[in-house]
Amino acid sequence: MKEITILSGKGGTGKTSVTAALASVASQAVFCDNDVDAADLHLIFLPENTEEHRFFSGYKALIDPERCRQCGICEDHCRFDAIHLNASGRLEINPFQCEGCRLCERVCPYEAIRSVRHDHNFWYVANTRFGPLVHARMGPGEENSGKLVSQVRRRARELAQESGAEWIINDGPPGIGCAAIASLSGTDLVLMVIEPSRSGLHDARRLLELCQSFSKLKVVALINKYDLNSQLSHEIETFLEENHVPLLARLPFDSEVVAAMAASESMVEHHPDAAFSASIKKLWSVISESF
Ligand code: SF4
Ligand code: SF4
Repeated sequence: MKEITILSGKGGTGKTSVTAALASVASQAVFCDNDVDAADLHLIFLPENTEEHRFFSGYKALIDPERCRQCGICEDHCRFDAIHLNASGRLEINPFQCEGCRLCERVCPYEAIRSVRHDHNFWYVANTRFGPLVHARMGPGEENSGKLVSQVRRRARELAQESGAEWIINDGPPGIGCAAIASLSGTDLVLMVIEPSRSGLHDARRLLELCQSFSKLKVVALINKYDLNSQLSHEIETFLEENHVPLLARLPFDSEVVAAMAASESMVEHHPDAAFSASIKKLWSVISESF
């Protein structure tokens, strides 16, 4: 079994369209949506969930203003600088800075702090027309997307082992944050989707640096909408060549890609004869024969 992770240095490069198009041509595959912060693969895959699981992402501390005597002990102990005076001069906890270590709860002499469980994230196993899909939904304000990515990947691996699937195909998150890092460990191949723009090239450089920090990780690339800016596409090709990253496909711009998404179809389903679809088929035959 081989695991492929499709990543992009930034959002909006067409990563999900590429994943869905590959899903139409790959067989014996289990799919995984690692973009848990902004999951959208389900819009094309139209999953029918067979399992639903609640995911515990940690604790957040909360001060009870009725009990708090404003002694400041908790503020002195918080290593994450999450406890501050608010506009009314009272101490409060910033939930975005609180790491849920629960130290403040233990040191408060007046039992004025309690820790609240955060478990509004869910992950699912689903049947789809392409094969099994493991995907997730993060609740509002929830964190720990890296841990959630590791969970969905773990389940995808189990499903692949149980069913004897040959491939796990991950639609990864954009960027180089903790969800991207959690997507990389243990994967066999990264397919970078790059768009020909200055920011696309800049973010691809950062993504490649991240990939190179993982030993034995193979990285290949494709340029999406390569014909929209031939000068930048050429710069990207030079960058890939200098860094020994094989360029496996140049996908042309096609306005039908958006129409396909709106119809909840992959581009290969929507327009099988388009140049985009032909390039995807060729890309899959190169990947499946070489890796
Ligand atoms: S340690 Fe307890 S009483 Fe003291 S400021 Fe913090 S919450 Fe309030
Ligand atoms: S739980 Fe930990 S990180 Fe959060 S406010 Fe308390 S001491 Fe700070």
